[in-house]
Amino acid sequence: MNRLFLRNLVPTLVLLLVLANEADPRMWPANPSQTTDPELSTNTPDKRHRPRSASSSRVQDPPDSLLPVQTSAYPESSLAGGIDAGKAASELPVDRNVEAPGFSAPSVPAIACATPMSLMLHSAFGEERMEALAQAILEHGWQTMTYRDLLPLSQAGECPPERAVIVSIDDLGTDWLRPDFKRMIQAFNEYGLVVVVGVVVHGPQDESIWAYLSQLEALGNEVASHSVDHLNLPLLDAEGLAGQVDGSYDTICLNLGKCPVTLILPFGNIDPEGRILAAANAYSFVVGIPGGHRFAGMPPYYLGRIPPVNESQDQTLASLEASFRHEAGELLAAVEGDD
Ligand SMILES: [Zn+2]
Repeated sequence: MNRLFLRNLVPTLVLLLVLANEADPRMWPANPSQTTDPELSTNTPDKRHRPRSASSSRVQDPPDSLLPVQTSAYPESSLAGGIDAGKAASELPVDRNVEAPGFSAPSVPAIACATPMSLMLHSAFGEERMEALAQAILEHGWQTMTYRDLLPLSQAGECPPERAVIVSIDDLGTDWLRPDFKRMIQAFNEYGLVVVVGVVVHGPQDESIWAYLSQLEALGNEVASHSVDHLNLPLLDAEGLAGQVDGSYDTICLNLGKCPVTLILPFGNIDPEGRILAAANAYSFVVGIPGGHRFAGMPPYYLGRIPPVNESQDQTLASLEASFRHEAGELLAAVEGDD
């Protein structure tokens, strides 16, 4: 076998190994229509269904913030059945993009990286916990980054630092903004740490909120799309999906003067068919809840997140490390051992 062949073969094998070991079973809820709402607490069933109308301008009041979602909401045993690893892998974005006629980004190297440890927060997490989180991150010698920071690394074929953590806060509105969000973000920024904010962009746009969001970007934070109406994307048809995914992209480009690189999925829900990733090709990162502890291939990359432990931010860090580093380390070590 010649060298060129090997050079092509090894990344392919690595990728297949990565995909076969990680991406499929937990990434795809077995029945999206019934696991629709991992962001929302099962303890608040009366609030599980958000207002769907664009006229409900305070939809971003986040009932989903209240309680951590256990990752056991996606037990492997209950999701693995019926999913064919080879088939699932063939549906992932790397293959789709590589095979897609006209796809032309040969300058972007295919990569296989551990996802930065990623945390999902909502307004009820509150200012005091933000401070405790910031202190824990600094005490542990971790560093925060944004998905936007991750982009030049992945474009250069590099993986993020081992101790990097991405902290994202969901459900900010661009027509009305809960004051809690500003206090939380400021508390975090004052420690020199950055956050990603997921904005729901429906309704009349408030210029003062966009000015605030621009200011956040200038401070090193990232403004990500959290869709137009916070609908459950897997249930939408192609037109509806494009409206949510492209519509929010365009609104952010226009009002922020800078386009988003990240789509944070409402309710964390991704579909098994890959329609959402296909629709999100304007973005570099699509962020959900199940799986996504490693990312590989070509953008858009699917990345996962976990909820905090409200009682203790040291435990939140321990939970992040256990979720994102234990498995990832084992797998990457196995991959390196193979070649
Ligand atoms: Zn949300």
